[in-house]
Amino acid sequence: MTEIIDGNAVASEIRDEISDCVETLQAGGVTPGLATVLMSDDPASETYVSMKQQDCEEVGINGIHVEIEPDAPSEELFETIDRLNDDPEVHGILVQLPVPDHVDKREVIRAIDPAKDVDGFHPENVGRLVAGDARFKPCTPHGVQKLLEAYEIETEGADAVVVGRSDIVGKPIANLLIQKAPQGNATTTVCHSRTDDLAAKTSTADIVIAAAGVPELVDGSMLKEDATVIDVGVNRVDADTEKGYELVGDVDYESAESVAGAITPVPGGVGPMTRAMLLYNTVAAASEQHDIEIELP
Ligand code: NAD
Repeated sequence: MTEIIDGNAVASEIRDEISDCVETLQAGGVTPGLATVLMSDDPASETYVSMKQQDCEEVGINGIHVEIEPDAPSEELFETIDRLNDDPEVHGILVQLPVPDHVDKREVIRAIDPAKDVDGFHPENVGRLVAGDARFKPCTPHGVQKLLEAYEIETEGADAVVVGRSDIVGKPIANLLIQKAPQGNATTTVCHSRTDDLAAKTSTADIVIAAAGVPELVDGSMLKEDATVIDVGVNRVDADTEKGYELVGDVDYESAESVAGAITPVPGGVGPMTRAMLLYNTVAAASEQHDIEIELP
């Protein structure tokens, strides 16, 4: 029987534990604060930010939201980041990406105080992750790691294939999998858009993590019997629904499910974990900044 990896259930447990962390911080006189900054009128970005704010409210994190007109000069964004860096009530800062073309994304990431960089994208935090001394693990890779842990998927000695090499998903997932650490020690192959024969790589893997942004790229014929399949992809495809689209992953669920030993659905797999791990990083940031010990999940 294929095990369906329930991201909603695991995320819900993690959120409960984060609520306890918030209580501990509050007992020490600190309410953790997360600032979200949106410089976009893209409806998907607006939705993501409002979900993050709602998540904060549910666990007792103080959510602060700043909106900047997409055509405003980039200085306005940098001044906002400086102000939030200096604000003692803000422990985490998240600038929703993508930013408009006239704003240099790398400069934005570098402008955030690394101690408040709850996305984990600042070069200092990327360096620490690669060196095996992570301060903040990026939310999606961390969420994937927590799912593997929750379902006791053995990574040690396993052959893992990561499909995708982005800075926010593919590369950090691969980095975590090769660490000499729990939920690491996997022999890891990273595939990407120039990979010659993707199926040849995925079909021998014990663990396949799909993060390519290509609807249903990985199907059952490309998988080894009983492989664990983690689908990070979230793609809108045209469909005869009220909204005119539906969300599908990077894995063809139907064919993959019949071969896999364990698989994440879309939605309800990695997505809720990404959201939970942002809350995790925010309480971790508050704990570090105020030197209050908390028991992170
Ligand atoms: P990206 O576009 O930055 O990177 C995609 C990567 O996939 C690239 O490295 C590219 O080389 C590789 N790729 C593209 N086509 C390929 C192919 N045919 N074969 C092999 N590799 C190929 O995307 P991203 O930001 O890493 O996101 C990947 C997917 O994950 C998207 O669908 C995104 O929406 C989703 N995502 C989901 C969550 C979540 O919480 N569930 C979070 C972040 C991203």
